[in-house]
Amino acid sequence: MTDPLVIAPILAALCAFVALGVTWLRLRRARQDFSEEVSSWKMKLDLDLRNARKERDQLLDALGDAFMLVDADARVLFANKAARTLFRGRDLTGRTVHEAFLDQRLAAALMRCLETGEATVTRAVLGQQSSPLGDQERRGMNAWVIDAARLSDSPAEDPTTRVVIRDVTSEYQTEQIRKDFVANASHELRTPLAIINGYLENLIDDDLVDDKELTRRFLKVMRKHTERISRIVEDMLVISRLESGEAAALKVKPFRLRSCVSDVLERLESVIHNQQATIKIDMPDVDITLAGDRFYWTQVLFNLVENALKQNPRKGLTVTVGCSRDETMTRIWVSDDGVGIPSADLPHIFRRFYRVEKHHSQEEIKGTGLGLSIVKRAIEAHGGTIRVTSIPGQDTRFTMEVPREAEARLQAEAEANALPELSGAGE
Ligand code: ATP
Ligand code: MG
Repeated sequence: MTDPLVIAPILAALCAFVALGVTWLRLRRARQDFSEEVSSWKMKLDLDLRNARKERDQLLDALGDAFMLVDADARVLFANKAARTLFRGRDLTGRTVHEAFLDQRLAAALMRCLETGEATVTRAVLGQQSSPLGDQERRGMNAWVIDAARLSDSPAEDPTTRVVIRDVTSEYQTEQIRKDFVANASHELRTPLAIINGYLENLIDDDLVDDKELTRRFLKVMRKHTERISRIVEDMLVISRLESGEAAALKVKPFRLRSCVSDVLERLESVIHNQQATIKIDMPDVDITLAGDRFYWTQVLFNLVENALKQNPRKGLTVTVGCSRDETMTRIWVSDDGVGIPSADLPHIFRRFYRVEKHHSQEEIKGTGLGLSIVKRAIEAHGGTIRVTSIPGQDTRFTMEVPREAEARLQAEAEANALPELSGAGE
């Protein structure tokens, strides 16, 4: 028989051992469960973080402007899609801004914000080569705005700086055109005004009014220059009307192109006669009817035929006015076999006040360089295009193309606008 005094402590020890084992197993299980839960939370957090970053990147990629985040050492932390495209697809992350920017003026604008912590907005006008677009830049002078600011008010907390790079080239070019226009217009108006002033001073200060013959001569010169001022002002108003509302500035009605050409030739009859010029009309269909503003079409053709005659005062010039039409397009051209336009000038001749200098002598008043500007804007207001080619001495040709669909649209718009008037008239 086993002594119970011996067995009891053994059993107690065994029970304690089993209880300890169970507790240990429970604890291990609990630890395992806990670490599994922690790692699943970690995975979930990682996923959330990745999704949040992806969402942020997608949002920032959707921005039209280039956007970058830069750290306190001027290293790029993030660059959105527009920034990567701007810098020709280069991976900017980790590079310093000095490496990223081709032009150090752009880098300097950003460094000012990094160094002082103050928000900066800087505009930089760059040449073709120093543009962020580098050799892809095709626009000549180009302009950029660098807008940099710290993300947080407390740099100790977050020293990251955000940078927005905005392409403002088209605004810059518009501003340049406006400045050129004002400068050119003032110059063109100042010249005849100074001449008129000079004659008036002569008449008044030198007391020449009693000399009737001389006064008459002076007044005639003054009238010529006054007419010139009126014409410049009138041309500028036409341009601004066409630019402001374009199609709205037109009074569209169907008209026969042939009759419009006849009007132009009638107005230029004496010049044609004096220069013994030949005018050819190349219009297989004499009944071609255009839907457009007859007034502007007359101005267009007048300017083009007048230019051909004016630039070629020599005898025996041939000027051709032509028109053809197919299902999609009406094509109208004016060509001459005169001196032509140098190829270097061709891209500029539709600009306001542009004249090919070597054609003109200083004393002679031959025009202001607004004619072709009006022509181009009038054609564009009709939904068409104009181009020019020139082989000096052979063929200088202005070709205008107006899609039939644009004509139909203008006609429909004109009819729709006319309706309220008609119903109003009937009331
Ligand atoms: P404006 O028409 O305002 O009286 P303009 O005739 O000098 O002045 P545009 O009609 O705009 O101005 O023409 C611009 C320039 O283009 C002209 O000065 C001329 O140098 C050149 N040009 C235009 N048409 C011809 C042409 N058919 N042959 C040669 N040069 C031309
Ligand atoms: Mg002209």
